[in-house]
Amino acid sequence: MKKEPFVTYGQLKEIVKKYPTPFHLYDEAGIRKNAEAVKEAFSWNPGFKEYFAVKATPNPFILELFKECGIGCDCSSMTELMLADALGFDGPEIMFSSNATPPEEFLYADKIGAVINLDDFTHIAFLEKTIGRIPETISCRFNPGGLFQISNSIMDNPGDAKYGFTLEQLIEGFRLLKEKGAKRFGLHAFLASNTVTNAYYPALAKTLFEVAVTLKEKTGAEIRFINLSGGIGIPYHPDQEPNDIYAIGEGVKKVYEETLIPAGMGDVAIYTELGRYMTGPYGCLVTSAVHEKHIHKEYIGCDACAVNLMRPAMYGAYHHITVMGKEDCACDHKYDITGSLCENNDKFAIDRMLPKIDIGDLLVIHDTGAHGFSMGYNYNGKLKSAEILLKEDGSTQLIRRAETPEDYFATFDCFEVYQRLDAIKKGWM
Ligand SMILES: *Cc1c(COP(=O)(O)O)cnc(C)c1O
Repeated sequence: MKKEPFVTYGQLKEIVKKYPTPFHLYDEAGIRKNAEAVKEAFSWNPGFKEYFAVKATPNPFILELFKECGIGCDCSSMTELMLADALGFDGPEIMFSSNATPPEEFLYADKIGAVINLDDFTHIAFLEKTIGRIPETISCRFNPGGLFQISNSIMDNPGDAKYGFTLEQLIEGFRLLKEKGAKRFGLHAFLASNTVTNAYYPALAKTLFEVAVTLKEKTGAEIRFINLSGGIGIPYHPDQEPNDIYAIGEGVKKVYEETLIPAGMGDVAIYTELGRYMTGPYGCLVTSAVHEKHIHKEYIGCDACAVNLMRPAMYGAYHHITVMGKEDCACDHKYDITGSLCENNDKFAIDRMLPKIDIGDLLVIHDTGAHGFSMGYNYNGKLKSAEILLKEDGSTQLIRRAETPEDYFATFDCFEVYQRLDAIKKGWM
């Protein structure tokens, strides 16, 4: 599939007059349209709800867009719970899917009425001790172990993953939770990440539905929802075929009709916690070419670096790059596109064929809308960029300002050196 930016060169030239590069830009129209498609694909299930995985794009303005679309939040930490709470999401609109959970996070999740999704059998006692009881609605995460395969291809390796209960622990756990007062149960699993196949969700659903039937038979628990979690991927590479969310919804429906309905479980709600699929393609990192370097290879040095987008450095992930205004030029130059970190893996692309790049060219790094800004860090004392929303009417809104040295030094504010840092900053800014 040909990859084109959601922003035109003309629009971008205007945007950079107002906001200096680098920044992450998000596409409101794309996010809304896709959110509606996800809801429609699962509309056959009356209880369906998507809980957006906040960790993918933890920005209140993005969460607000989802709230308007009737989408909830899937939180994994205290600050994510605080964001959901501050934006007025109702308890049942918040899923708390965490692991190795600190007690204060369970306390807060319970206080705001979030649905707690337990990661481990021992968390039953830990939760009870922490909040003083077991909530009436509770969910548990499943880990089947072994390899997760679809047909002959290995999708992922749950046997090596830290998450979830074994099947035996789930049976024992549901019994125990029931004894302790739980009335409504949920079941959850996340078995493969960034799957670019319509077969993942139906295969996962089949596994979870069969486990749900077993749990109902063995424990008598009333299973209210099954949470297929995240994992639907996006085509980062132009050679990849995008997922068809309608085919995925139909695939899950077929398994639902084959497995749950015959077991008298036709009232179970389907939940999802998609992150990447909801925002990934609707964000990009905009950066300027600042340097060119000709040594053993050809390098272009940008004003963004791995702190703005870690995926290429961390996973060797491919992110497509468009040199704006040169879309129709031949890709006859081979470049490494780098950031400025003192780390040789700080490269957005290696040996990438692109049009000739000139200093000052604007580069759009595609598909950074999920797990992009949010994985950022401050190595080399680099500051995090701004986030900007390209609205449906073509206007822009700053939805997070860029970090300043003051932000970077803020955690020293209880030390004497802070006064000197502050004076230095005032001196040169
Ligand atoms: C990360 C995560 C998600 C979202 O995953 P994507 O691959 O972005 O869809 C959903 N649920 C849980 C529990 C997660 O950890």
